[in-house]
Amino acid sequence: MRDYSISTLEVTYTDGNYIFYGDSTEITTLWKSQIVHLIRSGDKIKIQKDGKVLGSYSSIFIKEKEANLTLKIQGVAPSTKKSRRYMNNFMITPEGSNAMKIINLVEMENYLGGVIESEGGGGKPMEYYKVQAILSRTYALGHLKKHAKEGFELCDRVHCQAYHDKLIYTPDIDIAVKATKGIVMLNQELKLAQGFFFANCGGQTSEADFVWNTPVAHCKSVIDTFCTRSRQATWTKKIEVSKWNKFLVEEFGYPAADTLLHQLQYSFNQPQRDAFYQFPQLGVPLRDLRYEFKLKSTWFDCFREGNYIVINGKGFGHGVGVCQEGAMGMAKYNFNYSQILNFYFTGIHLMDYYDWLYIKQNAKNSIE
Ligand SMILES: [Zn+2]
Ligand SMILES: [Zn+2]
Repeated sequence: MRDYSISTLEVTYTDGNYIFYGDSTEITTLWKSQIVHLIRSGDKIKIQKDGKVLGSYSSIFIKEKEANLTLKIQGVAPSTKKSRRYMNNFMITPEGSNAMKIINLVEMENYLGGVIESEGGGGKPMEYYKVQAILSRTYALGHLKKHAKEGFELCDRVHCQAYHDKLIYTPDIDIAVKATKGIVMLNQELKLAQGFFFANCGGQTSEADFVWNTPVAHCKSVIDTFCTRSRQATWTKKIEVSKWNKFLVEEFGYPAADTLLHQLQYSFNQPQRDAFYQFPQLGVPLRDLRYEFKLKSTWFDCFREGNYIVINGKGFGHGVGVCQEGAMGMAKYNFNYSQILNFYFTGIHLMDYYDWLYIKQNAKNSIE
């Protein structure tokens, strides 16, 4: 609940008993139809069950009585409107002058189920969910120090990976997460690889340096025919000629007075993905045009029609890494998760995380 500064939290029974500890002393057990309120009070947290105050503590630990239980939590002040269900254990401590830090101590596989459902939703092929599971797991394990200064590993926002509930509606996600248990993606240097993805490439993925200026060795452009019949593969947009000109001339000093280049100002063809408008010497990055005019992608052709520039584009998103609709297309043709990841990424390895840690440690020892 990192989007909020929670000062009162409501905790309710969901599918089993939880034990509450205040500063390591057992305080109470939550039974069916009971409600616990945790209320920030001075420099402590007050715990109240069914309206009765049980004490104030510097930390509250909420422990499941059996494995893999779920607890329902909801912000009361301020109101989070919806409740959320999270699995396993919780540690709650005061934060700032009037808030609480709510940490979910969750098993990796339970966390990943919630993340994949929060970000993608249901109705997709199994091998596609396996791809997402490997990318999300690799990201999570590669970023465990992201919030170290704040005393936890990952937040629940898009900043880390959206984790807005436990997995609820899509049992296939749970099967995919468990079937790929522990598997992470490594790059050519055997480091955890960045698993970029986006909605639709339109037929060709992008080189990473077209988008971020720096090449990423495992993200090379590939021709992708698996996504080209889906809904987001093509798009059209019209932009006023005056706005187009203003941006090109004022931001990039486009030589509009030049007779030849004046012609090229409005008409552009891009048979394959390029990095720049017209040619690199003009110095107009397509990603800047995309950003300025909110285009779905940088892969487009354009021409002038009266007072408008008509833009015909392909794909949706930055284009680097896994094309999600292409990956779903491959899964429907019975390609497996390894074939899908090896299609979109170059020179990667899939390996168990603990095997990787072991190899890394041994390589270090042999050098020392
Ligand atoms: Zn974060
Ligand atoms: Zn694609």
